[in-house]
Amino acid sequence: MSSTTTPLLDVADVAAGYNGLDILNGLTLQVAPGEIYALLGANGAGKTTTLNLLLGFVRARRGRVRVGGVDPAQDAAAVRRQVAYIPENVALYEHLTARENLDYLLFLAGQPQDAAAVGAALSGAGLDAAAHDRRVAGFSKGMRQKVAIALALARHVPALLLDEPTSGLDPQAAAEFSRLLGLLRARSVAILMVTHDLLGAAEVADRIGFLLAGRLVEEVRASGSDRFDVRALQRHYAAAEVGA
Ligand code: ATP
Repeated sequence: MSSTTTPLLDVADVAAGYNGLDILNGLTLQVAPGEIYALLGANGAGKTTTLNLLLGFVRARRGRVRVGGVDPAQDAAAVRRQVAYIPENVALYEHLTARENLDYLLFLAGQPQDAAAVGAALSGAGLDAAAHDRRVAGFSKGMRQKVAIALALARHVPALLLDEPTSGLDPQAAAEFSRLLGLLRARSVAILMVTHDLLGAAEVADRIGFLLAGRLVEEVRASGSDRFDVRALQRHYAAAEVGA
């Protein structure tokens, strides 16, 4: 992130958690428009809690949280209008087709669109035209994610949050997913993904942060043609896992 770019996602020195117990302890994290940030950390480090904080489901006890300048604790609805959230398992209406799902989800988001725009979003997300009018009940995880990405594309949201997006995807689907994230980055979307997939993150992220016990212990930025030194990343990850 350049120092002149205002972060779209802005978390500064946040303490937050559940039932009076802090899970995030001094977390500072910023993601700029057109940037992909991958947040890694051991189970329980606070990755999903970070997403919940940005979505307004968890409140900061200390520090600053802003999404496009809006505090989710003050106006969660305004924040959610700016954000597409893709959980690990995308929930769709199983008896509806991909096109009907997108149509309905856009309606629920208050942004209904015509058939041409819906079809273009599904195609833009890489879903074969033959699948647009098929019920999603038989869709693979990768196909479901494409419907979710199509929703993000059609809504023109400035921010995308993803929880474990590549877990359970085969290598081809994971590569296709990385391509789609690149497409959203080119549209200046600020993308924050939490993941355990270090190699997948190294493939697509502009920055990788390592979370340990609710705060960032290391942040590495892509540079040069190799982007990241994967072996150094593995050492950072191992250190974050054990708390070294
Ligand atoms: P994982 O990789 O396993 O998904 P994570 O880094 O995403 O882990 P979180 O889901 O943020 O971790 O959880 C951090 C801690 O907060 C865990 O100890 C978890 O048990 C606790 N926690 C999460 N959600 C709640 C909740 N709704 N109520 C109480 N505690 C919670």
